[in-house]
Amino acid sequence: MIVARTIEETRVAVAAARAQGLRVALVPTMGFFHEGHLSLIREARKTGATFIVVSIFVNPKQFGPSEDFSRYPRGEERDRALLESESVDVIFMPSVEAMYLAGATTTVSAGRLSKVLEGERRPGHFDGVAVVVLKLFDIVQPDIAVFGRKDAQQCAVIDRMVRDLDVPVRLVFGETIREHDGLALSSRNSYLSPEERKLAPVLHRALRAGEEAVTHGVENVDEVEKLMHKVAAETPGLDVDYLALVDPLTFERPADFRRNLLVAGAVRIGRTRLIDNIRIERKAIP
Ligand code: AMP
Repeated sequence: MIVARTIEETRVAVAAARAQGLRVALVPTMGFFHEGHLSLIREARKTGATFIVVSIFVNPKQFGPSEDFSRYPRGEERDRALLESESVDVIFMPSVEAMYLAGATTTVSAGRLSKVLEGERRPGHFDGVAVVVLKLFDIVQPDIAVFGRKDAQQCAVIDRMVRDLDVPVRLVFGETIREHDGLALSSRNSYLSPEERKLAPVLHRALRAGEEAVTHGVENVDEVEKLMHKVAAETPGLDVDYLALVDPLTFERPADFRRNLLVAGAVRIGRTRLIDNIRIERKAIP
């Protein structure tokens, strides 16, 4: 396994793989691995990748000034061992200085998608994601890139960017890996105290209630959202950021219940902010 800390080292390693005819996959991450991350690596292999690059980069551009950039959990030793056991070929773990040129001025705007729902609560977040992911695509030039559906709006932003900017990569989205009680795995779960951890599955329960209402025929957005809030309200100490029924492409209020839908939520428990979502696939119109 090659541990590359510079763009050049990564390019050299990928070029050698490509010269051997290998199919290159990129799995971008911020590290502090859990089974969700590892499932994306396995998904890359299932999709036919024969050379896997995992990037670990806590990207300052996607954190707001009052967010958790400096305390975001890091665990390089353990991460390296886990990637070794998954037979990953390259870890790209640049410093902030190696990733962003001093004096860089060019940005990427994710447009309207970066302004709604999660984007509305985290101004600049998705533009920061877009710029780092586009840079990673340019550095690695992967055949395949894998992202988790746990971050559904991030998947939509990247899908839009790849199509809008003609990026030659095949995107693969992996399913959300959960704890037995429904809590989606997240590096940020490590912030939760044992008491807070007990409360955390309520986010998934609320989303499930929304999903069930829709699949049982409720076709009123407000009614579905009210139901999710009702479930959340049963847990004291929970601060709901949003619980929403949205169109999974635009993340705005859905206009048509015959199309695919998404229930998405963000809550705060103490100092920890958790997000999750469930897709509701409709057969009538894709
Ligand atoms: P992160 O390190 O949190 O930026 O996540 C790196 C990648 O792993 C992103 O594409 C996430 O969507 C994905 N991911 C995070 N949590 C999960 C999970 N529980 N199941 C599947 N994928 C996940």
